[in-house]
Amino acid sequence: MNVKKIRNDFPILERKINGNPLIYFDNAATSQKPLAVIEAISDYYKKHNANVHRGIHTLSDESTQLYEGARKTIAEFIGAGSPNELIFTKGTTDSLNSLAISLCKEINTDDEIITTIAEHHSNFLPWQKLAEKRGAALKILRTIDNEKLFINELEKTLTEKTKIVTLTQASNVLGTISPIMRIAEKVRQYNPNIKIVIDGAQSLPHIPVNVRKLNIDFFAFSAHKMMGPMGIGGLWIKKEHLEELEPFAFGGGMINEVTIEKSSWAEVPHKFEAGTPDVAGAIGWAKAIKYIEKIGGMKTLQKHCRELTKYAIENLQKIDGLKILGSADAEKRTGLVSFTVNGVHAHDIAGLLDSKGVAIRAGHHCAAPLHEELGINASARVSFQIYNTKEEIDYFVETLKEGLKILR
Ligand code: PMP
Repeated sequence: MNVKKIRNDFPILERKINGNPLIYFDNAATSQKPLAVIEAISDYYKKHNANVHRGIHTLSDESTQLYEGARKTIAEFIGAGSPNELIFTKGTTDSLNSLAISLCKEINTDDEIITTIAEHHSNFLPWQKLAEKRGAALKILRTIDNEKLFINELEKTLTEKTKIVTLTQASNVLGTISPIMRIAEKVRQYNPNIKIVIDGAQSLPHIPVNVRKLNIDFFAFSAHKMMGPMGIGGLWIKKEHLEELEPFAFGGGMINEVTIEKSSWAEVPHKFEAGTPDVAGAIGWAKAIKYIEKIGGMKTLQKHCRELTKYAIENLQKIDGLKILGSADAEKRTGLVSFTVNGVHAHDIAGLLDSKGVAIRAGHHCAAPLHEELGINASARVSFQIYNTKEEIDYFVETLKEGLKILR
């Protein structure tokens, strides 16, 4: 893999920030987009724009073909059994909120929903709200970064009232990859009817995923963290649930028949996609997947980001007073490292680095319960993608060291 060549595919990397070459280490928030993706979106609007599944004219037909073609590419990428199992949403947040609405009527008073302390607010709030609405209980697993203890805690927490187990495959703060197959096995052994929901926002951009092999029921994910456009994402629904699951939004494009008395819904996946979809977004996303495949696929991407993560951890660990959150083992992580520095606020670190052209994230990363559990109010986070280099990490670490001399 030739990173120099790959970097040429990302026009934004030519930018200077505050007079310095941009070093973009905020990929876990959103990744940059290769020219191929940007051009695919522009090409769609220049040549094919028309609404899908509606008009009987050439452009509408082309648009529909491109949209459904994109669905097929993305469905294959995640290992879905068929494109019908993939519905387009606005992103992970939208997927999880929509799912919580659809599952609402399956949750009764005193039922239990299990989640973890390490969730992004997107996979916490929809279930907290659902539990509140139905008088159900939200139970939180608190074990962090210890597979054996986590499974023990899960086993102890499952009861005959458990209806949903929902967790992230990769934490956006700790970077830890959860053993979803083992977790699913335990849940299924206990009760095969419990719904298993996985937040794949951080895992899909970093590790090869096959949703069917994970033995789960739902998988939510976003395009923009995997070099695709913003504003589009997906919800994979296990085939067995496609018919029984209620639509969560109603309107054009999702109906079979509408009368004043009663209405019926279109076939899946369309019954879940009310209104005009983000056709250009779907096309751009499929292009991002083709791009990943062109540069060597997910294994190549994962290897590169792991090497960067290992390198960053090794170098950051040498800084006095710096504490890395989560396991120091890069093999167990996606491509991100969060850290705190004694006596220095994460926002000051991020501001200082920005003045030197390095974009990192600081705050609670939409994971306030996890930060509270860790006894901190904020952390700094660097996160990598295929176009990042060890030289960039060297510059970042040196700049951080120099900056800390001023900040401490
Ligand atoms: N879950 C996790 C683990 C995330 O990191 C994010 C994005 N920061 C989300 C959910 C939400 O994704 P989106 O903003 O694309 O809906």
